[in-house]
Amino acid sequence: VFSSFEQARQHVLARNIRMIDLVFSDLWGRWHHVSIPASQFTEQLMRDGVGFDGSSVGLKSVKSGDMVLIPDLATGYHDPFWEEPTLGFICSAFEADTRTPFAADPRNIALRAEAHLKATGIADESIWGPEYEFYVFDKVSYENGVNTASYRVDSREADWHSAEGGHGHLIPLHGGYHAMPPKDQLYNLRAEMCSELARMGVEVKYHHHEVGGPGQCEIETPLFPMLKAGDATQMVKYVAKMVAHRRGQTATFMPKPLYGEAGSGMHFHQLLMKAGRNLFFDPDGYGCLSQEAHWYIGGILAHGPALLALTNPSTNSYRRLVPGFEAPVSAFFSLGNRSAAIRVPKYADREETARFEFRPPDATCNVYLALAAQLLAGLDGIQKRLDPTALGFGPIDQNIFGWSEEQRRKIKSLPTSLTEACDALEGDLDFLLAGDVFDRLQLEDYLLQLRAREAAVRNRPHPYEMALYF
Ligand code: GLU
Ligand code: MG
Ligand code: MG
Repeated sequence: VFSSFEQARQHVLARNIRMIDLVFSDLWGRWHHVSIPASQFTEQLMRDGVGFDGSSVGLKSVKSGDMVLIPDLATGYHDPFWEEPTLGFICSAFEADTRTPFAADPRNIALRAEAHLKATGIADESIWGPEYEFYVFDKVSYENGVNTASYRVDSREADWHSAEGGHGHLIPLHGGYHAMPPKDQLYNLRAEMCSELARMGVEVKYHHHEVGGPGQCEIETPLFPMLKAGDATQMVKYVAKMVAHRRGQTATFMPKPLYGEAGSGMHFHQLLMKAGRNLFFDPDGYGCLSQEAHWYIGGILAHGPALLALTNPSTNSYRRLVPGFEAPVSAFFSLGNRSAAIRVPKYADREETARFEFRPPDATCNVYLALAAQLLAGLDGIQKRLDPTALGFGPIDQNIFGWSEEQRRKIKSLPTSLTEACDALEGDLDFLLAGDVFDRLQLEDYLLQLRAREAAVRNRPHPYEMALYF
């Protein structure tokens, strides 16, 4: 973490850094990078930035595609994956002509959301804990451009972490939760990921094998302020993929890579801080949550269907949001309940820990957009005093997967497809325009791109159709 360019430059000299790697996120939350020799790392670069074509990465500008990247010095990290000593920086995009922040850059949107929060006077900052679930595959083969791991009709046929690698210590299907070595064959891999992350400036809270299995992992970081949480998310995805790649394996954050096995979510723990206090804490409230927290929950659940177009923006997202896998399918909140869209952890009963998690999101989201959108939905709830109970969102403290179809129909369901989520966002996007955090034209363009992706999947013959109809 550097506080001045001079400090960063001294570091480059002292550590004999050869390359500066500038990374930035596209509309879909994927990192791209452009690398410059250390000799080009100058004051002038910090002023003028490095040019790139924003329209090639889904970030349209009304004016032109020309933008520049300027490194955020506070994000400096040693990239351990390259042979030449490399210092990486996460960048925000600026307009090429005026050097003002480029409005549609996802990181800038997150910054505007935080600024808007302050401007409302409701709180000073928002605090976030995204949880990272992902699968590790030993072998991924592609046939006709299709990943055959996800192509299987039944996960039991998949070629991953089979008896060969496990010497007979097999994790049974669905039985991977906190599995112990030698059954857990991925301990070393995760430990290596976590050590690299720590060296790169992202602390880890813990890591473990997840339910889906064998092969599903989870890494969690402590709670961070919004921008740091967004940057850390990008870093976790990068490091997990690169460490797996280095060991000849493949990590994927795809929400539902295997039919019949648990999907991978990215639940977002969240709370608001005001004057150094947790605004969500009230020892006498349901789940030790305050009135503000309840209104905020009301906002998240009322805007839930629209929100999912930003937190679950892939066709694959909706293969995860099905009953029976601890992924939520209904819009309600609850204490400890994993079938709820919002779960209040039972251990979150002190001021330091009081919060809830929004469970639908997955890692196909652009994390900066997902963070900003959740905050705006919650703030709208506080401003409009949306009481979640009056709106029919619970609390429900039973596992609704044990309920009859009839009982379950009484609670509102989450969108079951990308199209439903897109339709919902089209009809409910004004809450995202507050404080000019999002822009209407930009959201309309985003929806067009989402719908095009949905059609591209829908129009292709599906592998399972061969089993049914060939
Ligand atoms: N893998 C589950 C999901 O798809 C979540 C399991 C958990 O509660 O950690 O959301
Ligand atoms: Mg988990
Ligand atoms: Mg969770």
